[in-house]
Amino acid sequence: MTSVLTDVVVVGAGAAGMMCAAVAGQRGRRVILVDHASKLGEKIRISGGGRCNFTNLNTAPEHFISRNPHFCRSALARYSPQDFIALVKSYGIGYHEKHRGQLFCDQSSEQIIELLRRECERGAVQWRMPCSVKAIRRENSGFVVATDQGEISTGRVVIASGGMSIPKIGASDYGLRVARQFGLKIVEPRPALVPLTFAAEVWQPFVALAGVSLPVRVSSGDGDFLEDLLFTHRGLSGPAILQISSYWHAGQALCLDLIPTLELEAVLCQLKAHGRQQLGRVLQSWLPRRLAEGWLQQAAWSDWAECRLAEVPDQVLAGLGKSLQGWKLVPSGSEGWRKAEVMRGGVDTVELSQATLEAKKVPGLHFVGEVVDVTGWLGGYNFQWAWASAHACGQAV
Ligand SMILES: Cc1cc2nc3c(=O)[nH]c(=O)nc-3n(C[C@H](O)[C@H](O)[C@H](O)COP(=O)(O)OP(=O)(O)OC[C@H]3O[C@@H](n4cnc5c(N)ncnc54)[C@H](O)[C@@H]3O)c2cc1C
Repeated sequence: MTSVLTDVVVVGAGAAGMMCAAVAGQRGRRVILVDHASKLGEKIRISGGGRCNFTNLNTAPEHFISRNPHFCRSALARYSPQDFIALVKSYGIGYHEKHRGQLFCDQSSEQIIELLRRECERGAVQWRMPCSVKAIRRENSGFVVATDQGEISTGRVVIASGGMSIPKIGASDYGLRVARQFGLKIVEPRPALVPLTFAAEVWQPFVALAGVSLPVRVSSGDGDFLEDLLFTHRGLSGPAILQISSYWHAGQALCLDLIPTLELEAVLCQLKAHGRQQLGRVLQSWLPRRLAEGWLQQAAWSDWAECRLAEVPDQVLAGLGKSLQGWKLVPSGSEGWRKAEVMRGGVDTVELSQATLEAKKVPGLHFVGEVVDVTGWLGGYNFQWAWASAHACGQAV
């Protein structure tokens, strides 16, 4: 077994780890980048449906959830979406805006992995991969990182091991274990940007709607989003639900408006005057056919589904309006780490310097990216946090 000396060891060669290693290496620091996976950048590869939604033009601190919502400001201000876009352009990578400021590669997320790999090469970063870290201990004024390829003595350690979602591609709670080892507080981790599920008996009437999708307004806790909803066999998914899942807490209800563009009760009452159409057909003006039909099969409305609108009492129309525009339901849980895009929670930001991401109690130990308690909305914000936090740290180590 060899024992080597370096300036910086970065644990985790994902989005944040590669960015941090490259920035530090290009400043002339000797950097060793360690990852236990055998394939580089798997989460980047599968991101954005294979096209990596690598940033969002509208990035601002309010798109991030954290116990301290101000913590992310400094890093985000010092490394903006425009900075990462300039890097993307310098590699000739084509990209496009898809929806609300979300930027995707025209071709493949592999291009972002290659960009980061080459940036590391420019910084003469040394790779240890696949390589497991067995232990990290303090020694003299630095650390010894014991790996299955020998020990590394280093002045600084950067933990960039990401969150716990998708364990089958190498995600782990390693960063949280290191934080606990050094006595740092953790904000309880839980799956976020994740589909929500319902008890079988609650969901039974909606199982047949699997595949139906429509724009909705959804709220729960402090979250409120206008996005697309998707019915699945086990519950609800789609951007609306992924977004709200980051705000939802067990036991809380979701409130859904399935026709957010109008006041349904008022419109139905107005249409009633010349309402020769069946109620079911009228609802199909605003809802997908399967959903309109399925909704009216529920006991409260089934007697009226085939009646002409003019025959339906105002009271029934009012109740129907409320049911579609204030649908309240309590999820039993989520699809968990297997399907979550990110981890909410992580290393408590009270423990870290917002300028350098260094642990205040443990000089020389830094945490960047998703392992920190900063969780972005869906839409490229999580990568922007990875780039920005890693850049801030890479300039400091
Ligand atoms: C399906 C999916 C799609 C996504 N799409 C997007 C998107 O389009 N846009 C967006 O902004 N965000 C997206 N995300 C979220 C985004 O991928 C993450 O927020 C981002 O990758 C976090 O970067 P990171 O470097 O902190 O962690 P990661 O990129 O997860 O990297 C962590 C690295 O640490 C390594 N590691 C873990 N444990 C150890 C250990 N014990 N020892 C050594 N190495 C270890 C892992 O192998 C991994 O390489 C998506 C996530 C998923 C799951």
